[in-house]
Amino acid sequence: METHKERVLGQVLDGRAIAAKIYDQLKREVGRLKSLHGQAPFLLSVQVGTHSASDLFARSQSRAASNLGIGYRLERLPQAVTQKELIRRIDEWNQDPQITGVTVQFPLPSGIDAREISAKLDPKKDVEGIHPQHIGQAVFGWSRIGTCTSLAIMELINATGADLYGKEAVIVGHSELIGKPVSLLLLDRFCTTTICHVATSDRGRLMEHVRRAEILVVAVGKPHLVKGPWIHPGAIVIDVGTSLVNGQVVGDVEFEEARSRADFITPVPGGVGPVVVATLMRNTVEAFKLQVERPNA
Ligand code: NAP
Repeated sequence: METHKERVLGQVLDGRAIAAKIYDQLKREVGRLKSLHGQAPFLLSVQVGTHSASDLFARSQSRAASNLGIGYRLERLPQAVTQKELIRRIDEWNQDPQITGVTVQFPLPSGIDAREISAKLDPKKDVEGIHPQHIGQAVFGWSRIGTCTSLAIMELINATGADLYGKEAVIVGHSELIGKPVSLLLLDRFCTTTICHVATSDRGRLMEHVRRAEILVVAVGKPHLVKGPWIHPGAIVIDVGTSLVNGQVVGDVEFEEARSRADFITPVPGGVGPVVVATLMRNTVEAFKLQVERPNA
């Protein structure tokens, strides 16, 4: 006699549906701001060199901005642009009253110091949330402009309806754009938070940390680094990684095997990516409000 029920597969978190809800709210907000101030937010997206992933991201940004009534321009700079020239252009954009938000797409060429570039942006126009002021405010939980990807990850986790209080959260990857800021956001929600990185893997400890993760965020960029059988039963799995393998975009987690153990999991593509574009648009609206509400702050 069959004594156990077959486990139901984890629910796939639909990033496009979550993004659509954010756009509904933003559309109303942009309309309200336009009628109040006679001006709409304007996003300048900066791409240095050519990357197929950045082209795709820029197309999604352009489409989202146009649907919301946000102005948009893509500025392409050559791969060989110097640090000095890039900083000179940033100074110009910072002064330009038409431009209310600037996003510089990463990764930047190896000769460019990304930290200095982030620090040169006017924090009121920094819609990626990477200026040291925003990162510092995130420590206090004050930030009005968080990093887009960390905010998108929190939207996906919130969509599960899970109570995060006291949960074991494990983040794999400690980058300044994703791993570190999302660890602060999860800490703010009273998760017990562990951050894993390359040294965790090098010591052979990644599996033991992942195994106890009730909330797992993986942001590395190594296809299938996290194995399906490692997933804690009932976990929420957010796979941020994107790598191109044989022409296909794949994540950092073995999806099918992980889904058979998790309660919720993001697909790649179609999980985190669409929500990142939506949080970028929300930050663009927030930056505009910072400028019109407190122009001299
Ligand atoms: P990143 O700056 O290269 O950071 C990767 C992190 O992974 C680093 O902290 C690195 O640690 C760590 N790492 C490397 N190998 C590891 C290993 N074997 N075990 C554990 N940790 C390891 O990349 P990122 O900007 O954070 O992006 C991460 C991934 O997310 C990439 O695939 C990127 O394409 C993707 N992404 C997706 C979206 C989206 O919209 N879906 C948005 C942004 C980024 P060390 O620094 O110590 O080496």
